[in-house]
Amino acid sequence: MEVDVLLVGAGPASLAAALHLKKLFNRHNRLLESGEASGRRLEDPVILVVEKGKEVGAHALSGAVVDPQAIEELIEGIEAEAPPYESPVIEDALYILTKRQAYRSSITPPPLRNHGCYVASLGKLVSWLAGLCEAQGIDVFPEFPAAELLWEGNVVRGARMGDKGRDHEGAPKSNYEPGIEVFAKATVLGEGPRGTLSETAVRRLGLAEGRQPQLYAVGVKEIWQVPGDLEPGVVYHTMGFPLGTEEFGGGFIYSMQDNLLDIGMVVGLDHEDPQMDCHRLLQQFKTHPWVREMLEGGKPVSYGAKAIPEGGYYAMPRLYADGLLIVGDSAGFLNSQRLKGIHLAVRSGMMAAEAIFDAFLKDEFSASTLQGYQDRFEASEARRELWRVRNFRQSFQSGFWRGMFHAGLQYVTGGRGLKDPFPIRPGHARMRSLRERFGDVPVREPRMKFDGKLTLDKLSALYLSDTAHEEDQPAHLKVLDPDICDNRCTIEYGNPCQYFCPANVYEILREKSAGKLQVNFSNCVHCKTCEIMDPYQIIRWTTPEGGGGPNWKLM
Ligand code: SF4
Repeated sequence: MEVDVLLVGAGPASLAAALHLKKLFNRHNRLLESGEASGRRLEDPVILVVEKGKEVGAHALSGAVVDPQAIEELIEGIEAEAPPYESPVIEDALYILTKRQAYRSSITPPPLRNHGCYVASLGKLVSWLAGLCEAQGIDVFPEFPAAELLWEGNVVRGARMGDKGRDHEGAPKSNYEPGIEVFAKATVLGEGPRGTLSETAVRRLGLAEGRQPQLYAVGVKEIWQVPGDLEPGVVYHTMGFPLGTEEFGGGFIYSMQDNLLDIGMVVGLDHEDPQMDCHRLLQQFKTHPWVREMLEGGKPVSYGAKAIPEGGYYAMPRLYADGLLIVGDSAGFLNSQRLKGIHLAVRSGMMAAEAIFDAFLKDEFSASTLQGYQDRFEASEARRELWRVRNFRQSFQSGFWRGMFHAGLQYVTGGRGLKDPFPIRPGHARMRSLRERFGDVPVREPRMKFDGKLTLDKLSALYLSDTAHEEDQPAHLKVLDPDICDNRCTIEYGNPCQYFCPANVYEILREKSAGKLQVNFSNCVHCKTCEIMDPYQIIRWTTPEGGGGPNWKLM
């Protein structure tokens, strides 16, 4: 299959790129027709957005409090209904939680002030954007999982979609369909955080040379339907319980329409605790009296998790190569201090589209033309926003209080602080072994009793994510050396995958003192935590059959 532009992943960055590119073509040809510009008329481009989820939005999860300006600019001049925001933010506050008490901070730190922003469901937002794309003649294909890039030397020529209908050993079944190859002049990767194709390209082409390692967090979230008359647009962030002062992270609670409450925890994926379990932390968060009261009489209706790229400017790879551009979360467009990335994702898509449009004018898609994307970014407000917080997340590797001290200094020095760049280690390298963490004391498994109402065990929570994969297919989670899991990791780290995975994918079957790893890949919600946090870096997340994974409706 041949197209002009292939965009991988129907998130806000790719969809914005597709829509903006189409607008640029239309505008160019309109100006030529009216005689206001001279030059060559451009053929209508064939633009294809492929998405691995069952439908657009099925794999989209975010906070999400949206800074609307970028979206307003994106849809300027096209016929579109207003974005499907839940509500303008009507109140925001920061709460500090001890085990029993909640103290409302008398000042909300400026980065957490959300005046002029909107509470949204990212799933609804991207399906609205996809509708706008389709109305402009752009093809958006869900259940089309891009499995690998097509290369000609070091030039990207498109992507191959995953096969359908292979059994667990990889042999073709009766419904076998080989994945099609899609060739494109430009391929845009907007796969979300830790994108599979993006990581391959970054490694192969050395796009992250001289950059800091990406730092991630994981966000775990539930949506609750609560009784009463909930006013949408209230945004609370929390610090403290159930986290200590070692980890970076906090909680959030947002109110949406239809008496829905977003409630979640974000935890830095550079913690030292091999038993850190973000699902358990969220359950503990809900037991806090202040949170429990909000959820009283309600019921959970959805659950999900997603990695968040927090490293910022210093962790961004080069954004382009021959035939290739990387956008959105895949390139690290996220302001970890404001806890916002959607507006930056949209801007990255628009800047990528402008560089691709230049490439069409020149009919030349080499790195030297697509570098226009990087040049635009370096001169943009998006870059200025990220530059101001370039050391923010990094400084929290020195602990919460030191992090706060450095963040304060960075605030008054325009992001520089005492050390610039602030030195960091990759998240997985900071995990401590059982012996380093607990000494010679016998290690106890962390336990929590779940009541099935307010607190849910992992499998009950997972049920709410509507996650499903075809069971008879090759496992998409590849453990490169299972011996390490069964023999070394059991002793050294106590198999942290069984804790940090929010979907119970990794289970240790105990046989006497030894453990054997079982991978329940069909539970996977595609959050990428395991690939990021595995201390031996032997887990590879690959693309499963199209349509597999969570099926979020409201996230
Ligand atoms: Fe996330 Fe990995 Fe667990 Fe899948 S297996 S849910 S990607 S941690």
